[in-house]
Amino acid sequence: MEPLITLRDLQATLDYLATIHRELSALPPDLAILDAKVKAAEKQIADKTKALDTARAQILVKSKELTQAQKDEDRARAAVKTTSQKVHYTAAIRELDEKERLKASVARPLKALESTVQVLEQALAVLEKERAGAQTQFDELYAIFLDEHANQVEGRKVLQAKQTKLETKLTPVEVARFHRLAAARHGRVVVAVENGACSGCNVKLRGPILFQLKEGKDLITCESCQRILFLS
Ligand SMILES: [Zn+2]
Repeated sequence: MEPLITLRDLQATLDYLATIHRELSALPPDLAILDAKVKAAEKQIADKTKALDTARAQILVKSKELTQAQKDEDRARAAVKTTSQKVHYTAAIRELDEKERLKASVARPLKALESTVQVLEQALAVLEKERAGAQTQFDELYAIFLDEHANQVEGRKVLQAKQTKLETKLTPVEVARFHRLAAARHGRVVVAVENGACSGCNVKLRGPILFQLKEGKDLITCESCQRILFLS
């Protein structure tokens, strides 16, 4: 039966592709360590960059506040200089003290923010160097890894082309159904009947189902798991 042959072929193709995918994603220990290093550095860089952006935004706000506080203080100082009457002078001095205190209360956190930015920038420079170093080492080793797995890389290309060709022999509905089942059944869609049972879910098949299978006219699916069946 033509569709069953195509479906079995498609299943075999996807099985090979899954194997190749596993082999290509199973990095040797040294590569896996470098990969983890790169990812850890990237995560830290992202976190510190976010903290840096926040600190810089706060500095902008505080700088404006400081400029305003400085103006207020200057004005109060000028008032002290131009006041001659004793009563007014005392009030002006008190006003200047107050403005100086206000300015200091803005300047302190601003200074703290500026040193935070400095620390973050230094940490980021170190992290960036670490990341770049690990990435270079990874790239070099990965190129060797891919070279050693040239057969798999080539095989994957051939198999993907074969998959495309097989899928054009089926209707879009059949293809969609196949992939849906593959996702739900750990990639096993077309399975053999073994000792009168579905080898996908091990449920015994009813007599009429076995009879239809032997006739070989239609596509028969397991009533229990919906996998497509064939007689081995
Ligand atoms: Zn089944």
